[in-house]
Amino acid sequence: MEQQRILGKSMEQWILETPILSEVISYKQVLWTNDKLKDNDNEAYEKLELNWKDIREAEERWNRFAPLIARLFPETAPKQGIIESNLTEIEKMKNAMRDQYTAELKGRLFLKCDNSLPVAGSIKARGGLYEVLKHAEKLALGSGLLKEQDDYSVMADEKYREFFSGYSLAVGSTGNLGLSIGIMGTALGFRVTVHMSADAKQWKKDLLRSKGVTVVEYESDYSKAVEEGRRLALQDPMCHFVDDEHSKDLFLGYSVAAIRLKHQLDALGITVDREHPLFVYLPCGVGGAPGGICFGLKHIWKDAVHCFFVEPTHSPCMLIGLATGANDGVSVQDFGIDNITEGDGLAVGRASGFVGKVIEELISGVYTIEDDELYKLLALLKDSEGIEIEPSAAAGLMGPCVLSKDEKAARYLENAVHIAWATGGAFVPAEMKRDFYEKGKRLLRIE
Ligand SMILES: *Cc1c(COP(=O)(O)O)cnc(C)c1O
Repeated sequence: MEQQRILGKSMEQWILETPILSEVISYKQVLWTNDKLKDNDNEAYEKLELNWKDIREAEERWNRFAPLIARLFPETAPKQGIIESNLTEIEKMKNAMRDQYTAELKGRLFLKCDNSLPVAGSIKARGGLYEVLKHAEKLALGSGLLKEQDDYSVMADEKYREFFSGYSLAVGSTGNLGLSIGIMGTALGFRVTVHMSADAKQWKKDLLRSKGVTVVEYESDYSKAVEEGRRLALQDPMCHFVDDEHSKDLFLGYSVAAIRLKHQLDALGITVDREHPLFVYLPCGVGGAPGGICFGLKHIWKDAVHCFFVEPTHSPCMLIGLATGANDGVSVQDFGIDNITEGDGLAVGRASGFVGKVIEELISGVYTIEDDELYKLLALLKDSEGIEIEPSAAAGLMGPCVLSKDEKAARYLENAVHIAWATGGAFVPAEMKRDFYEKGKRLLRIE
């Protein structure tokens, strides 16, 4: 039988060149650290196609839109339409993890609570909403209906809704990105189509349909839903396709989180420098959300911040792209990995090539986690802190344990601040939240 070749190389060759692949292929939990890290080197930043100015522009755009967001979504009015989550110290969780994983956990542990972000209920409120708003701004400015100095809250008026209803938005998604585009898109009056991969949850499709979104269902995975969605959208000149694999707008929407986090740490009196490093653990699907946030954080703190992405053992697309150097030239399926995970938003077989390129010298590493551990962490977090998140959002919590067991990393942890980025949960129906928790409790008992 002829052996399957991947980009012209045999599996043996790949493993010889990138030994960690042998564990990755057998679904083992691994920590990969990045040899290409050049995060204190100005050149690593200067050569990138996006820069600090782009992040600041994105921040200003969010500020311009805040009055509109406050008007469309009254739940955001207390923060004047700024969509931001709390940064919460979770010391009880740290102690629970120390007992559960017999790990010596140094430093302080915080949760970045994007699980409770308003409007979209997940981290997609940063990227997805931003891209819709930016597109709406471009159309409105271009038509002469709006000027940049205007109070953008006028865009909730009927005149604008009617204008936007002449345009459409489309997106391919495993669920949460679709929710963010659908909710903001329809709130402005756009016609929205969401192309959903097979793993997308029924309640997300129902929620979108209840808002008038057209949901197209696929029997294949995320990459296929994106590809089909892109193909169909290109045929319609009035349609804007939100391209999760390539979009710089999504990426920049996410990046603004870094500026906001800096303000939150300042308010807590926490200084970040080389002697007091910041470790941030970001669940990764296609890479846009963790990539954009990493990009922002590195511009602020350079080598004083260490960004680690987390992927399910069954969907380690960013890890294989970075570790092999082949970026989006390879998919997990190429290596016989099945891309089946219960972590919503994380079932992605091929990472964004655009993101891979931007972060390849900035990211400190990637670790993988088994689905069962996601449920255990979720249950531990609820018991210790009373905070409810969805399974994928729990992935970052393992970060401090993973690093404490790595000899090289462990020596940096003495004065560290760890931030586990909780990425979703608020919109999950109550009975599903209960099932997640009970599954976690069951798994904790079995041990
Ligand atoms: C989308 C998502 C992620 C990952 O974001 P990517 O941009 O796909 O890498 C992580 N967690 C949740 C809950 C998400 O919805």
